[in-house]
Amino acid sequence: MRNAILRELQGEYDQQRMRNDQEDQRRLAEVTAKCPEIAQLMDERQSMIFAGLRGILDGRVQGDELPRRMDVMNTRIAQLLHQHGYGEDYLEPVYRCGKCKDTGYVGEPVKEMCDCLRSAFYARLYQQVGLGEKAQQTFESFDLTVFPDKKVEGQPFTQRQLMSMIREQCQTWADQYPKASTSDMLLMGPSGLGKTFLMHAMAKRLLDRGHNVLMMSAYRFLDVARKAYFSGQMGELDSLMEADVLLLDDLGSEPLMENITIVQLFNLINERQTAGKGTVISTNLNLRELRERYTERIASRLTDKRQCTQVVFMGEDIRRV
Ligand SMILES: [Zn+2]
Repeated sequence: MRNAILRELQGEYDQQRMRNDQEDQRRLAEVTAKCPEIAQLMDERQSMIFAGLRGILDGRVQGDELPRRMDVMNTRIAQLLHQHGYGEDYLEPVYRCGKCKDTGYVGEPVKEMCDCLRSAFYARLYQQVGLGEKAQQTFESFDLTVFPDKKVEGQPFTQRQLMSMIREQCQTWADQYPKASTSDMLLMGPSGLGKTFLMHAMAKRLLDRGHNVLMMSAYRFLDVARKAYFSGQMGELDSLMEADVLLLDDLGSEPLMENITIVQLFNLINERQTAGKGTVISTNLNLRELRERYTERIASRLTDKRQCTQVVFMGEDIRRV
């Protein structure tokens, strides 16, 4: 996936440089039509550079003479541009990114990705794995203070303390994967307690560590499973199997189509566990509800402590606090 994105971006950068060249030429033609003197001066400047360099090499011209004469010419060109209503840099080469001149890379001799390419790359990567604009949701930006610092009913800890622990747990899992203590994680609890945020943070951390992840809502999963069931289009379902880590959000919110959801979900979890690949599932359902809705077979896969870490979110809906 990463290489495909890079190739795609490289193609776009090539296109961009071609468009830059066309724009350079268009501007030159436009200016020349309005003010032929500028074109003439630019030609002269060009020949002067060549002649000057040759002169310096031959020892006929002093090295500091050329810059001085260039200055005079540049000033004159700038004046003319100004007189015709253009900015002084109107005939400078056009770039979208001045740092890498739209090559996407900076540095000599060791080239590294320019910031513009890096951010385009990650934006596209996040988009493709289903994170999109949620890429801002990271462990670093996870704000504990939005959780009430008062005791969760019937528990010896406050909601904020609980969330601090849970964040730690999720972060450790994402940092250690695939060597985490279990291959799967089940995030349980009512909505509005931060499950999805932490899932996004996990996805992003895994991506940054170079893993290939896929984030998908259970609703969307049903769609993919249904397509596979009715029309035999397995492509997308296969891609769910291929991701190193699959993050399935909000299981239980999708309409239940027993012969599709349950069979496909079981296959998915089972195959992924067999292949040793990680699956993270969030759900508003508790264990009893999971069992009732998805059968014992699926529930037992998710409650096997050797395979799956259960994380239980508790407290008040922070959207209402
Ligand atoms: Zn750049």
